[in-house]
Amino acid sequence: MDFYTAGKDYIICTLCPKACKIKTDGTGDCGIRMNKNNKLFLPYNGIPSALNIDPIEKKPLYHFQPGANIFSIGFYGCNFHCPFCQNHGISQKPFPSGTDSYLPPEELITLVKNRNLSLLAFTYSEPLVHFEYLLEAAELAQLADIKTVLVTNGYINKVPAGELLPYIDALNIDLKTFNDDFYRTEIGGSLGPVLDFIELSTAYSHVEVTTLIIPGKNDSISEIEEISSFIAAIDRSIPLHLSAYYPTYRYTIPSTPESTITGSLSAARKYLDYVYPGNTVSMDSNTYCPNCSSLLVKRTGYRTSIQGIENGKCLKCGMKIGIVV
Ligand code: SF4
Repeated sequence: MDFYTAGKDYIICTLCPKACKIKTDGTGDCGIRMNKNNKLFLPYNGIPSALNIDPIEKKPLYHFQPGANIFSIGFYGCNFHCPFCQNHGISQKPFPSGTDSYLPPEELITLVKNRNLSLLAFTYSEPLVHFEYLLEAAELAQLADIKTVLVTNGYINKVPAGELLPYIDALNIDLKTFNDDFYRTEIGGSLGPVLDFIELSTAYSHVEVTTLIIPGKNDSISEIEEISSFIAAIDRSIPLHLSAYYPTYRYTIPSTPESTITGSLSAARKYLDYVYPGNTVSMDSNTYCPNCSSLLVKRTGYRTSIQGIENGKCLKCGMKIGIVV
């Protein structure tokens, strides 16, 4: 299915809630989807900005194949414009021009297999604006027994989301704030569609959520509680990563103090079973049993060892632990 409609001298992209009206030779807000002769044209289709092998914990995913390495591909562009983007060099314009490095989805799958890996992540910038490539590559991955991971801002309409999600095994979704005004004024999006996408994704795939805690912007305890209770209403065992911000791109606000992360973790843990600090070196990011507090997964940096789980249950108390190994 094509996610656009054509008018007399424009197209309307229907992939994400922005519904950009794109005039001839123009691009939508993401800079990726273009109108050529009143048809959708994708000049950056399949052009990687980065290819790496990462620990899966770096996505971050803590409850999906802990300790595994994952082949990771990034592209260009994003339908958000966060002034604190840690990947603004590839997510925001200008993008490199005249590149001829198209990587066919079949070759991407071969690259993953040649490295003896069985995990593939679409990550770094916003993968969803490359919907067509993602769908093709994820379908091929499924046929090749490769599990797929999507690291995303979750800003996509429900129909394309429903087409893609059956081919995605796990997601980390950014929930940047619970404040619609912050989404609209500083990020260039809105809250409702992201919440809808989180809920929809849990019907198909393993989901973890990340919130970057920015001092003075989204670090109030009441906002952390709103985020946590929204997630808990879906499933209190969904992992939430509360990551420390550091100044980058257009933001010069000082880094998030450790005490703010500590307070946020405590607030979120009233609602959720698994809440983790991110972008902090010294804080405890182990997994403990929500029932008996036994150590289940030990993490030191990106080194991970499963210590207290057998057959999907806590070794000590027998509680079912939803970690996909
Ligand atoms: S995907 Fe890009 S072009 Fe399409 S509506 Fe969203 S921002 Fe606009």
